Amino acid sequence: MYCRKCGSQTIEGTNFCGVCGERIVLPEIQNNDPKPIEKIEIIEVKEEPIESKASLEVILGIILITMVLSVLLIGVL
Ligand SMILES: [Zn+2]
Repeated sequence: MYCRKCGSQTIEGTNFCGVCGERIVLPEIQNNDPKPIEKIEIIEVKEEPIESKASLEVILGIILITMVLSVLLIGVL
């Protein structure tokens, strides 16, 4: 590993450069971080919650209509 700030070779297993004190970031950690964020963004883009809310409103409307109709039928009988 080489320090990205001063370019000096660093000892393996150490997190900081022995010359300038710059924190050593492993390439594996940098590559793994963006992938989960992309997956989260894709999930957030989906508009399923809005559709489910709309369908819930429709279901509630249907239930209200059936309730009113049943009350009217009971009143007629
Ligand atoms: Zn350094």
